[in-house]
Amino acid sequence: EPEFPSGLAMFADALRRAPDTEIVRYFDGTITLAELDRLSDRFAVALADRGFERGHRLATYLQNIPQVLIAVIGTWKAGGIVVSINPMSRTRELTTLLSDCEATALLAEEDLFGQVAREVVPTIPSLRIAWTTSPLEYQTRHDPRLFAGVERVRHDGTEDLSEVLDSVGDRTPEPVELGGDDVAFLGYTSGTTGPPKGAMNTHRNVVFNAQTYRDWVGLTPEDSVLGVAPLFHITGVVAHTAVCLLVPMPLVLAYRFEPNVLLDAIREHRPTFTAGSITVFIALMNTEGATKDDLSSLTKIFSGGAPIPPSTVKAFADQFGTYIHNIYGLTETTSPSHGVPLGGRAPVDEASGALSVGVPIFSTVVRIARDDGSDADVGEIGEIVTRGPQVVPGYWNKPEETENALRAPDGSVELKTGDVGYMDAEGWFYVVDRKKDQINAGGYKVWPREVEDVLYEHPAVREAAVVGVPDEYRGETVKAFVSVRPGQSVDPEELIAFCRDRMSAYKYPRQVELLDEIPKTVTGKLLRRALRS
Ligand code: ATP
Repeated sequence: EPEFPSGLAMFADALRRAPDTEIVRYFDGTITLAELDRLSDRFAVALADRGFERGHRLATYLQNIPQVLIAVIGTWKAGGIVVSINPMSRTRELTTLLSDCEATALLAEEDLFGQVAREVVPTIPSLRIAWTTSPLEYQTRHDPRLFAGVERVRHDGTEDLSEVLDSVGDRTPEPVELGGDDVAFLGYTSGTTGPPKGAMNTHRNVVFNAQTYRDWVGLTPEDSVLGVAPLFHITGVVAHTAVCLLVPMPLVLAYRFEPNVLLDAIREHRPTFTAGSITVFIALMNTEGATKDDLSSLTKIFSGGAPIPPSTVKAFADQFGTYIHNIYGLTETTSPSHGVPLGGRAPVDEASGALSVGVPIFSTVVRIARDDGSDADVGEIGEIVTRGPQVVPGYWNKPEETENALRAPDGSVELKTGDVGYMDAEGWFYVVDRKKDQINAGGYKVWPREVEDVLYEHPAVREAAVVGVPDEYRGETVKAFVSVRPGQSVDPEELIAFCRDRMSAYKYPRQVELLDEIPKTVTGKLLRRALRS
């Protein structure tokens, strides 16, 4: 059970126990819990002054900067819901999300406001508050690799966040009572499977999975977290923001993902724990000058959100001496539903070559369902269906989607994940692929993951993505896109032969195309749709 009724109660408890904790470390800037309390009080007062009420939505449009935490706690103190929007979103996406959630308030980074939000804001009738802020606000050392050309800009029709906070003075907000069923975040799915849907991550969901990270990993106030996941994404929300507030312990932020900057942050702050996507860890392996010593503090590494090729786990351990633990979950499960326990080793299925995503976390019940809804046998492939305190009760204003994906026949909450997988005799789970990514090559079913795992075994392959493309003879055929490691080269024909030697004839890619970069979402998910087209 969640130990606190809400994220706000969780924060209040940490504040009482350890007010001097440096909750954020951002280059040479730090914010303590006591300061966060003061700033978020002002944030809440300023929202209320401008007509923001309980249940209203505040959208954040920010990179990984300290203001995210001020906005989260401040919005909760005002009784509101945080809608964190991917800073890579452009006009159409921003418009869709702000109108879908009928946001009352927006906090945007100044440059993002100028580039995108400025033209969107006047088109959203519900928006009454537009605040802007700068990534330079809470630090004095501006890393030129990130901040060259970043300047403070004032935009007409907006207010500057620090001036807003200053103007509040010492007023404190009216206390609000938030309960487990109140929505804490609207987590919009990235839309790789269709139009974005706002998963309603309740306070119960968020507190529960903050506890999961704390207890699964054994985190204490001696630990600190490297913020590699984007803070807008549910893994950033839970494995970074919420778990740091719960323990409490410092969160190291580095604006946006840049491997060399991240490496410097690791050297300087010596974080112990992180959870992110495998792309980040692959990038670190390919960063010149990254040594075992650099990463020696980071002993608790978890990767989720996308499949991990088993060969990458091995290569990372060989290079840095640290094992990457797989975790699995969705926005709808408020980050993890499964994980490999700290110190555990995920088995690799001999037949499929897949790395296990772990076992269900605390209080979570998972079954593999056949197409007719009945339970599959051990080892039998079916859809992963999850129940637990971290599963969201529904999608924002989408009763039909809620009914289809989040309700069992008896009306209770149960998530059909859309992922295909199986469980072995010892209870380890494996994700085969997303249901809709299956390739049908002349009647033979091919799961792209399996082909990608083989490609990753080739020493020249940096990243690989496999999709089905139209084929006159088979209907669909297997095509691989590959990016090559720095300083290496490889012939597509050689990669085709490499796969042909290692898998059934119907599975190996008939076409290989080399790309400089494999297109991905910021959370490390392959954009297969983009590759197909
Ligand atoms: P959309 O539903 O629009 O595609 P999304 O991709 O942003 O949204 P998320 O909730 O971020 O949705 O991602 C969840 C998906 O990520 C899972 O359904 C699964 O396919 C994949 N995934 C997460 N963790 C793992 C893992 N450890 N191994 C393999 N796949 C994973």
